[in-house]
Amino acid sequence: MKNFISLLLLLFFISTSIAQSKLDSILPLRGFCIAAPSPKDVDAFTDFINKELAPRQVNTLILRIDFNYQFKSHPELRDSIALSREEVKKIVEVCKKNNIRPIPQINLLGHQSWAKQTHNLLRVYPEFDETPHVKMPEVYKWPNSDSLYCKSYCPLHPKVHGIVFALVDEICEVFEATAFHAGMDEVFYIGDPKCPRCGGKDKAVLFAGEVKAIRDHLSSSGRQLWIWGDRLLDGSTTGLGMWEGSKNNTHQAVDMIPKDVMICDWHYERPDKTAVYFAMKGFSVATCPWRNPLIAVTQLNDMIGFRNESTPEMKERFRGMIQTVWSGAGGFMKEFAENKPGNTPSNTFRQLFAEIESRK
Ligand SMILES: [Zn+2]
Repeated sequence: MKNFISLLLLLFFISTSIAQSKLDSILPLRGFCIAAPSPKDVDAFTDFINKELAPRQVNTLILRIDFNYQFKSHPELRDSIALSREEVKKIVEVCKKNNIRPIPQINLLGHQSWAKQTHNLLRVYPEFDETPHVKMPEVYKWPNSDSLYCKSYCPLHPKVHGIVFALVDEICEVFEATAFHAGMDEVFYIGDPKCPRCGGKDKAVLFAGEVKAIRDHLSSSGRQLWIWGDRLLDGSTTGLGMWEGSKNNTHQAVDMIPKDVMICDWHYERPDKTAVYFAMKGFSVATCPWRNPLIAVTQLNDMIGFRNESTPEMKERFRGMIQTVWSGAGGFMKEFAENKPGNTPSNTFRQLFAEIESRK
């Protein structure tokens, strides 16, 4: 009897690992991207990883940190309530146990403010502001006369990298990360004519220069840079517009940045086939849905199709899918537990990964 049970267990493990390697060949990257939990939600979040991400074969977890960590290199930049080293290690351990690769994110360059709120970097170091003449409004409205969406830091300020790279190094070290996500989406303020360093310079060259500076810094410690893809797409010619694409010329940077930068190609309104563009340019790419399950499943089928229908050179650049969630971790877990139907991030996550599961 004992031998029989051992045999059953062995067969179970063999069939599980065959299914796993089949899935790895169909869709190597199966990702989930969300804001890192607040300290009070860390235990619920590690439970969520164990019970919901791991069984769905998620193997990559992008966690948006920004200033939600008790940084020792720059304590002045911490949020007032921020994750401790021990809390991050709890997340790291549960990722390790489930073969999930954690990738921390800090928004670099753009997204240095939101609505009427200036984030920590420019609040503490206002001299890094690319557009100091743009005052934060009492009440935020879009559109507005300053075209203020989010503030950016000046990529040519001589002191900015010394500070942000210290944060990058510290967060990568605590997460034991082999890759770092720098955000870099929706950068509208770049090369401002009034900036004494950037004024008059080519915006594509400025954007590419910042990508390369971050990439080179990470590369010196063997880490890879991941970014959102929107600034590298021509928003006008493609009709993608100023959010999913660039209307301020940064798209020409696509031919100026190193090919080992991983592109997270988000499209939420249509299953745009832009992954092919990035792969043909030599980049590895993942497609990122948000809250529309039908679009997400179409994007998954496209991604699998691109892999199957490409040359061997192109095939491996089509890495997979990353479900993006733009609410906080606590809010998402609540929505997920309530099983909200329709066009919600949690329903998209369920349906996308049910479809992935069916491919095993
Ligand atoms: Zn500047």
